[in-house]
Order: sequence, then structure tokens, then C-alpha cells
Amino acid sequence: MFDKELQTLIDDMIETMRAAPGVGLAAPQVGVSQRLIVVEYGDEEDEDAPKKLFVVANPEILSASEEMVDGTEACLSIPRVMGDVERHEKVVVRGLNRFGKPVRYKLSGWMARIFQHEIDHLEGVLFTDRASRAWRVQEEEQVPDNV
Ligand code: ZN
Repeated sequence: MFDKELQTLIDDMIETMRAAPGVGLAAPQVGVSQRLIVVEYGDEEDEDAPKKLFVVANPEILSASEEMVDGTEACLSIPRVMGDVERHEKVVVRGLNRFGKPVRYKLSGWMARIFQHEIDHLEGVLFTDRASRAWRVQEEEQVPDNV
């Protein structure tokens, strides 16, 4: 699976995510039926910290905190729509990196939210399916990072 073709797909997905711009992208969003996500996001507490790039194949949520948090999401696949979604505050995600090596990440806050959003895409679940409310973006409205 971790052949040249997959490496090209991964690089294309990273490019698409950055161009959007977005902070995460799942393969089904670019019409590819593979369990693959890319995420690029910085430390929300420190704007100067470099962004971290994650490439995860077969991502799986190993455990999730009982604590849930509300947040407003936007998705590259549903332009001009925002919605309030409750997500686990913390998750542990495992999967394989782009070279097929097992990885495990402990995530919290927005990073945890982005991963939950992307992993949902692999199941065909959109944030609007989970949103307590969703609405069309008004022109003056600030849109959260797309995922
Ligand atoms: Zn999305």
C-alpha cells in the first residue's frame, strides 16, 4: 500500500489542504476511497510555534475523553456553511505514517477536533450530521479553519 502512488496522493492532498487553505483533509474529500488523512495545525496557545504536519493512514480513535467541548467548524466539502459541533476534548489516535510505520498521537483541543472531523470523513460522516445547529455563512462572518 505504501508505494509511490500513495506518496503522490499524500503530496497532492497536502498541497490541496494548503491551497484551500485548510488545516485537515481526508482522502474521500478528493474523491479517493482510502482511509487516509492529512492534518497541519499549530499550537493554539502559541501562534509563533511551527505548524505540525501529520499524515495518518488507517487512523483509529483508540480512546476518547468523557469530557466534551463545543466548537464551531467549517468544512472544505461544504462551502459557506458553519456549525456547532460537540467533540471529545481529548483523543488518542493510532494509525500508520506515510511509510507504513505505526504511530500514536495524544491530542487535545482543536487538534483533537480536527482529527475527529477528518476520521468522520472516512465514514462518510459530515460535521453537519453531528452539528447541534448549522447555518450559512454571512458575508461579514469570520469563518473557522476549514477541515
Ligand atoms: Zn471536512
